[in-house]
Amino acid sequence: MSNGVITIDNYIGGSFVAPGANYLDVVDPSVPGKVIAKCGISTAKDVDIAVEAAKKALPAWSKMTIKARAAIMMKFHSIIQREAEDLARMIVLENGKNFTEAMAEVAKANETVEYACSLPQLAEGKTLRVSSQVTCEDRRLPLGVVASIVPFNFPLMVPMWTLPIALVMGNTVICKPSEKVPMTLRRVAELAQEAGFPAGVFNLVNGVKESVEALIDHPDVKAVTFVGSSPVAEIVSTRCRKLHKRCTSLGGAKNHLIALEDCEPSSAASDICVSFAGCAGQRCMAASVLLLVGGEVQEGLLAKVVELASKIEPGSKPGQMGPVIDEASYKKIIGYVTDAEKCGAEIILDGRPWNKKEGCKGNWIGPTIIKHKQSSDKTMKEEVFGPVLSVYSVSSWEEAIAIENANPFGNAACIYTTNGGNAEWFLERFRAAMLGVNIGIPVPREPFSFGGLYGTKSKYGDMDITGDAAIEFFSNRIKVTSKWPITQSRKRSSEAVAGS
Ligand code: NAD
Repeated sequence: MSNGVITIDNYIGGSFVAPGANYLDVVDPSVPGKVIAKCGISTAKDVDIAVEAAKKALPAWSKMTIKARAAIMMKFHSIIQREAEDLARMIVLENGKNFTEAMAEVAKANETVEYACSLPQLAEGKTLRVSSQVTCEDRRLPLGVVASIVPFNFPLMVPMWTLPIALVMGNTVICKPSEKVPMTLRRVAELAQEAGFPAGVFNLVNGVKESVEALIDHPDVKAVTFVGSSPVAEIVSTRCRKLHKRCTSLGGAKNHLIALEDCEPSSAASDICVSFAGCAGQRCMAASVLLLVGGEVQEGLLAKVVELASKIEPGSKPGQMGPVIDEASYKKIIGYVTDAEKCGAEIILDGRPWNKKEGCKGNWIGPTIIKHKQSSDKTMKEEVFGPVLSVYSVSSWEEAIAIENANPFGNAACIYTTNGGNAEWFLERFRAAMLGVNIGIPVPREPFSFGGLYGTKSKYGDMDITGDAAIEFFSNRIKVTSKWPITQSRKRSSEAVAGS
């Protein structure tokens, strides 16, 4: 570290190693232009070095008992718990979310670590006794070296969706952090070392497009997980598919919340507010579109959402909201608000003036609520990835579901109602894979897996991430059919005994 600026090197074979190419500035999202770290940019040669280290570590790691691997993971779990506040502070610094959100991220990340510690109990194969002599057996074996490519919005939680499960299943791992937030994972490498992961079992290769392509193309990388924007998720999935490589690739989202007349307005309002403004809207599970069914009655609910959102102040303390990640993101979000305005939408809560507040120069935009006049507005349809809620009034349930179904993403959707039958009507019809009833952020908990709907822009590749899908993803099923002629072998051994 010099002048408080941390150098982020690769972590390969248990040591920090400088990459062959250059370094990129990592900028504090709260203070434009303030460089907080220099993130290494890896070439294909750096990727080769990492893959070699991961390959070298593989035989010993995969031959350890699963309980021995889980025991190291348990140590890692307790170290993360011990370091939770420091990790959260690092997340606040490089990502910009508030401290409470960062602590929640650390806790959620450690839930997957905890799940991975249970794999000796959960990751069994299966056996079928076909006859008295024939048995079919399904053995789970590790894939080998696997790669995980992650986005900026959860510097710790998203990497932990894959790494702990891949590791306990006996694979060795190379993770490519987001170049915008590489500091937290650098610290995690130190903590993994302390936990006792052997050298080469867990590696970090920093970089951008070239590093990702080299990881996918490397013949010794057996599977790839990707989480990020839809265009890149599609590129990664297609590239893996061409190489017949196992891949799970999660993309962006546009989550619709539908509030019926019979919803409980005060809990719905606070839930909707947390869903769209939490983490400055930079969550793939964030509410993007609120569809109000019921005309005038719903004005009260909307007023409550606006009232709660307008109380949010800029900052990193609990209840406050941080900036968005960078200038490009900020400009994109402002563009969507301006575009909606041009389409005749009413900006009922305008977060754009935040930028003029003391200490909020740069990437700060406050909670913004837009009341649209037509559902065809671009801002209603594309992923904004900022603290912006599009609101639109519909006249029927059918109209609400038609709008939700027409969106090209299929990540999450939620219905607010106090009637179970009404909820079921929507659950049967939503075109999304993570559904909520009176919950704006319906994140499934392990052992359930996380992921959007196949065939939409939210999910490409083979399967979901985390939970039981990850056990499947990170193992090869080897099918063994055995036939043991029991009577004959007894005869032979008794003959052998008699002859001795
Ligand atoms: P991004 O797609 O820009 O980057 C994700 C990763 O891909 C990074 O590590 C980046 O370095 C790498 N990358 C960028 N361009 C690449 C290219 N052309 N080729 C290969 N690799 C490339 O995403 P982001 O901005 O970091 O994250 C935000 C996005 O992630 C949003 O769209 C959000 O919805 C999505 N996201 C989805 C989920 C989910 O579970 N579906 C979870 C978190 C975030």
